[in-house]
Amino acid sequence: MNLSASLQYIKGVGPKLAKHLEKLSIRNVTDFVYYFPRLYDDRRTLPKLVGIEYGENIQAYGRILDIKERKVRPGLTIINCKISDGFGTLSVQWFNQAFLKKVLRVGLWVYVRGKVEFNHFEKETQLSVSEHEFYQSYEELSMNLGAIMPIYGLKAGLYQYQMRKVAKAIFKENNFEIEDPLPIALKRSLNLADLKPSIIELHYPSSRENFNKARTRLVFDEFFYYQLRLSQKRIQFRSSSMAKPLRVEGKLIDAYFSNLEYTLTNAQKRVINEIKGDLSKNTSMNRLVQGDVGSGKTDLAIFSLLCAVETGKIGALMAPTEILVVQHYLKLKKLFHNLDIKIHLLKSKMKAAEKRATVEALKGDKACIVIGTHSLIQGYVELPNLGCVIIDEQHRFGVIQRLELRKKGINPHALFLTATPIPRSFMLTSFGDLEKSIIDELPPGRKAPNTYFINDSELESAYTHCKKRLSMGEQLYIVYPLVEESEKLDLKSAVEGFEIIKAQFQSYTVGLIHGRLKPQEKSEIMKEFKDNKIQILVATTVIEVGIDVPNASMMIIRHAERFGLSQLHQLRGRIGRGGQQSDCFLVGNPKSDSGKGRIKAMVETNDGFKLSEIDLKIRGPGDMLGTKQSGIPDFNLANLIKDESILVCSKQVAEKIIKDDPNLESLDYRKIKKKLMEEHTELLELQLN
Ligand code: ADP
Ligand code: MG
Repeated sequence: MNLSASLQYIKGVGPKLAKHLEKLSIRNVTDFVYYFPRLYDDRRTLPKLVGIEYGENIQAYGRILDIKERKVRPGLTIINCKISDGFGTLSVQWFNQAFLKKVLRVGLWVYVRGKVEFNHFEKETQLSVSEHEFYQSYEELSMNLGAIMPIYGLKAGLYQYQMRKVAKAIFKENNFEIEDPLPIALKRSLNLADLKPSIIELHYPSSRENFNKARTRLVFDEFFYYQLRLSQKRIQFRSSSMAKPLRVEGKLIDAYFSNLEYTLTNAQKRVINEIKGDLSKNTSMNRLVQGDVGSGKTDLAIFSLLCAVETGKIGALMAPTEILVVQHYLKLKKLFHNLDIKIHLLKSKMKAAEKRATVEALKGDKACIVIGTHSLIQGYVELPNLGCVIIDEQHRFGVIQRLELRKKGINPHALFLTATPIPRSFMLTSFGDLEKSIIDELPPGRKAPNTYFINDSELESAYTHCKKRLSMGEQLYIVYPLVEESEKLDLKSAVEGFEIIKAQFQSYTVGLIHGRLKPQEKSEIMKEFKDNKIQILVATTVIEVGIDVPNASMMIIRHAERFGLSQLHQLRGRIGRGGQQSDCFLVGNPKSDSGKGRIKAMVETNDGFKLSEIDLKIRGPGDMLGTKQSGIPDFNLANLIKDESILVCSKQVAEKIIKDDPNLESLDYRKIKKKLMEEHTELLELQLN
């Protein structure tokens, strides 16, 4: 049977069934072939209805002998059937599924799965159904037993047995032919199974071992064709991304280093050398720097900005929050106060005249530095003389936003900074062409904060502890949580907290900062905190990233269970920046396992890389990085975390093939090329970052 043939040519598929299948985007044989089961049910041995075991997930089948319906109380209806398989009987029940009355009838064959218990009240063994299938005859039922059965994802109106009938017609009655594009030698060298038997195995597994081998083959395919296309695109991209090299030495850079109050860590020096190497080339830098909070990433940003200015170009730095942008701006202003460098600030709320002047200056060909929020990527900003872009806290931006900033210039050099490690598998897919640097060393003298988990009743003693340290001149953050994503409620809890804290700590000045304040007010409060005019800062998560006040050595986080793990780690990263030992109190009452897990992880480790691994396990990759934002396709079978080794292998193979034969012209790759041409999904610079 031709793979593109409509399903209607398959025995048993009438127009009605075809219509239902269409709802699952299954239109032809290929669609069905690649519509893999969601789960499998091992029905190779089913128990007889004598001496059936107690427990969860027990399977049984039989013929309905009688049906009873009982309304136990308002809101609880039970349908109870007695079924028999000729050897014994079993009582089977459904809760609150009144609609089944229309389907159930004496004589119907059922397959059920659920929990089996002894009901002491009715004195009988009962199965509470969680899954069921109904069949008109024993013959029909028996076709769905005795093997590992596929369970397909369904939509209303479709039944498992119908899907299995189609599967049987296609696979068992050998109605399909599929060409395997992979050359035999390649399959042999990678120990990959053939395509057709692998597909059949996925629908009708014969054993765990065979199934795994088949799945590996199909997962390989999913990654492989994607990586081939990425590799091809990358070659085109590289040849079109000629950039102007930047000067990596000069007066400004020297002055900057000699003005620094500290010596750079070895890790910082190493990364600066890597950046130097990139900037000296005539292809644009595309580098991600990953370093835990407080590891000194800002210095790398400053270095790169200066290289742009030394070359007579513009260096742009984009950061995700206004507070952070202002902080960077003030830091640079201070560092360069005796140097001849123009530094601009760009954010959404600015005096109109000021903004206009900045936007105008950025259009020109004068060298300068600009620090901005998302405002930098707005349509009215033009940066024709852009030499280098830096994106701070890059995980807070989407792929498109990162790309937008680069597009403001002609192949500018780009540097991305992040404290949130990107799993390797994501690096290999979405971040295909990105070089990576790691800062694995904190500036000397840092002590990891002590982290304590306490409940509300222990808050009082935490306050006492903090008062002691406040009296020695140190400072305290008190963070109030995100309440159901609502800024309004956030604010309420912080404002209420502010009043309580003021009453608690009367000898100190308490400040309040949150997202609703005017930018000017926010800057002023941050400045007062930095200058120790405010000793206690009550805050919402606006202080989550980047804020740097080394004298603040204490943090209390209320309702800690409501924060995500990376958020907690980022928040805690605000303290422990001076030389003193700092203390972080997580106050809360976690109920869910994941909430407990996050707090436990925070207490146990201060290592951002470990925490993000744990986070990945708790949340799953899509949620953690926003797969949609990252531009990574939805793979059908493949799992980016579980199948990482297959991903690595497919990437290596794809790159080698494209390197040897960029247009896949050799006879060996003819079929692969054909398969790639059939793919229509757009794959653009997005995946190349
Ligand atoms: P992050 O990597 O989180 O962006 P920052 O760049 O904000 O970290 O640096 C955190 C703090 O450490 C800042 O106060 C910065 O001045 C300081 N710092 C950076 N590098 C060093 C160093 N090599 N020695 C001492 N302090 C440093
Ligand atoms: Mg930073």
